[in-house]
Amino acid sequence: MIAVFDLDGTLVDSDRALSDAFVALGVPREDITFGHLLADECDRLGVSVDDYLAAYDPEHAQPFPGIDEVLAQLLVWGVCSNKHPESGAAELARLGWQPTVATFADRASGPKQLGPVLAALDVAAADVLYVGDTAHDRACARTAGCRFVLAGWNVRAEAAPGDLVAATPAEVLTLLRPS
Ligand SMILES: [Mg+2]
Repeated sequence: MIAVFDLDGTLVDSDRALSDAFVALGVPREDITFGHLLADECDRLGVSVDDYLAAYDPEHAQPFPGIDEVLAQLLVWGVCSNKHPESGAAELARLGWQPTVATFADRASGPKQLGPVLAALDVAAADVLYVGDTAHDRACARTAGCRFVLAGWNVRAEAAPGDLVAATPAEVLTLLRPS
């Protein structure tokens, strides 16, 4: 099995950094939701993407504990994120991560999809676990025919009935092994 990961809230503990930028622009913290295209969430909350990006401090966001150790053990892995392509690439460079395939999303492409990731990896959907932290991630996996694994190490992530839940990043390695 091959792992493909969402980025924000799954590999990177970025909820606080993502929220702080909205709060700095006057948005009540409780109004903020996660897992969407940035442009869509900015539209919903009434702020401009440019203002948001100026207020966002990516240095705030660090990998969740144990993520670096897990990624170091994967020969082939992917990232499929709703981050904008520019900020997504900058984030991977900052963290020193080199996934085999990384796809991002913007208004032109629409929300992220796993299909292009599977094609670039040249793997069948049945051979991929998609690890994510939101209902949108679960829906992406279902649409593509991949197994979904909830990033249970993010305390905000809510399991739905039937979810595979990894309590720690290391548990993802266990799920990847043939049983
Ligand atoms: Mg996420």
